[in-house]
Formats: sequence, structure tokens, C-alpha cells
Amino acid sequence: MGYEAPAVRDNLKELSGYHSPQLDVDVRLNTNESPQPPPAAFTNSFTQSLQDLDWNRYPDRKAVGLRKKIADMHSRQGYEVNTDHVFVANGSNEILQTLLVAWAGPGRKVATFAPTYAMHSQIARVLGSELIEIERDKNFEIDLQKGLAQLKEHRPIITFLCSPNNPTGLIESREVIEKVADTVSEFGLLVVDEAYAEFSNFSALELIRDDSPIIVTRTFSKTWAMAAARLGYLIAPEWVVEKCYIAALPYHVNALSQMAGELALDYQKEMQDRIALITSERSKVIDELESFGLDVWASQSNFVLFRPNSDEGHPSGEDIWRGLVDRSVLIRNCASWPGLEGCLRVTIGTAEENWRFLQALSTLL
Ligand SMILES: *Cc1c(COP(=O)(O)O)cnc(C)c1O
Repeated sequence: MGYEAPAVRDNLKELSGYHSPQLDVDVRLNTNESPQPPPAAFTNSFTQSLQDLDWNRYPDRKAVGLRKKIADMHSRQGYEVNTDHVFVANGSNEILQTLLVAWAGPGRKVATFAPTYAMHSQIARVLGSELIEIERDKNFEIDLQKGLAQLKEHRPIITFLCSPNNPTGLIESREVIEKVADTVSEFGLLVVDEAYAEFSNFSALELIRDDSPIIVTRTFSKTWAMAAARLGYLIAPEWVVEKCYIAALPYHVNALSQMAGELALDYQKEMQDRIALITSERSKVIDELESFGLDVWASQSNFVLFRPNSDEGHPSGEDIWRGLVDRSVLIRNCASWPGLEGCLRVTIGTAEENWRFLQALSTLL
């Protein structure tokens, strides 16, 4: 009665939260999760380790054990990474947030190359930063000349790239990453979101140096099949990691997540096997989609972006999405996202799930 809720900060008034519709269906191919869980041996060792958990104590604030294991893994892959180059958090979304808390905010600019992962701009806006959205060309590639000119004009403190890019699945070339890094090094940081890197054939990890603005973010949510654990990390020069520890809350990564992350890394081979399976399924799905006459983008990730073709008499993206839901298959409807008119994104699932999706789709076309 007459109560007026206190107003949120001005920059939140226009925003709605991140939204990824979930429906109760048989085949869920909408959020780029791994279709398989981590191996049973992992679950068993986690359950056993739980017996030793010091419930009454705060976790290791700096998560040294987990960071060291991540550093060792990347060192074995041939990159120069040690514990001081790694920062971990609750999902790579919290990594992105921590970077933005430390460097962005009111009076500061953040740049993205749209269309891309929505959380980069969402978190930047929530924190009150000014967003510079640089448009990709019609094939969703970066027009370097135009892009670099806009970066020089606006001088954003943080520039985001996403490689492979969500939702297109395309990777940025080494040339693009190096040229963008060269340009922004005069005024800001370059964050390369590599949530799907293990599915692709290039990583910006090899470009990280103490005197370079490049930061790479990774996650346990996709290739490690651990979306439930909420774990992500960044690899960056030590001076970035130090500032992240100022911006983050103390004890932000709980002991259970740290334990799960450390144990998960013992199952690298199983992770590679899951990736091999998904990439081979991915080629099958892409071939089928192309055989239907759809526009398909060459994904290096665990999802594929496609668009119906009116010349082929296909229904609209919206109608296809609904028709699939009616057949108990849920994919991501990007049809109304700016720059993605008519597009749909399907996550690669198990062979069975992909078959169900393709069967349902063929009846709709
Ligand atoms: C899924 C995804 C993430 C992962 O976020 P988490 O918080 O680690 O689950 C990050 N970036 C991109 C581009 C993604 O698609």
C-alpha cells in the first residue's frame, strides 16, 4: 500500500537479465553443455575426497593447488604458464565480471565485436561502463580496417574477442588477434574468451607475454563436462592476476569446487575422447544441414549456427524452432538477436540426440 521499491542504479533500469529459456523436452541442445558427464572414476575420487574436507575451515583463498594444476597442464601443452599466471573463479562468467570490476565501470569504455557472447556486454553495462559494439561483416567476420579504426577512436579499456565465437562457432585468426592486441596495447586490455578452445585448432595462449595486453579465459563448463561445478579461469600476465585478487571477494571459490577442479584435470584423456566424439558428430551434423540447403557456418566449436533459406522454401527460423520444440527437441533461437536474423544454434549432442534433431528438422523442411 503506497510502498515504492527503491530505485536501482540508472544503468540497470533499461536492462533485463541473461535469459536462456529452458523447457521440459527429451533432447536438450540449447546451452552448449557436454552431452556426457565426466568419467565415473572422477565421480568416485571426488566422493572419496569429500571425506577429508575441512568443513569448518575457509578454503584456500588463493586456490594454489588448482591453479598449479591448471598451469602444469598448459605447460605440458607447450605454453609458458605458471601458477602466478592463473586466476580461478566461479565459472568464466565470474572471471569476466572480475576483470570488468577491476578495469571497467562508469566513465570507462568496453568494446565487443557483435554478434558475440551476450555476457561480455551485459556485465559491462551492469557495471555502468559505456559499450562500444563494433559490427562484424555479414559473414560474421571482423573487418580489421574498420574495427581497428573504431578501437583507436574510442580507446576502450577492455576489448573482448571470443574465439571460437559464440554463437557463430568461427575462430579469430592469429593475425586478427595480434593486430587487435597491437592496437589496444596503447590504451587497454584484450580479453580472448576461449570457452570452446579445445574444439578448435588455434589458441591465443601462445601470445601471452608480460608486456602484452592479452588475457585468455577458459571454463570447465563445456569441454570438461562440469557446468554444474561453476569453475572457470584466466591465463594472463602476473600483474593482471594481482589486480583480480583485489577485485574478487575473499574465498570466492569454495573448497568443493577447488577439489572437483583439481581431480577433473586427472582425466585429460577422457576429455580429449569426448572432444573427438563431438567433433566427428559435428561434421556429420554440418553435412546434413548443408544437404538440406540451409546456410551453415563452419564451426570449430561444439555447436553449429544455421539459417533457413527462403529460396529453398524453408519456414522461418522462428517456425523451425517451434516445430522442433513440438517434437521435443530444444535448440537455441537466435532469430531475434541483432545481426542474427533468422538464425538458429544447435549444440552437438550424442549421436542419438543429433539423429533425433536431424529427423525432426527434416520433417519441418
Ligand atoms: C558457455 C560460455 C562461457 C562459460 O561460462 P561459465 O560461466 O564458465 O559457465 C563463457 N564464454 C562463452 C563464450 C560461453 O559460450
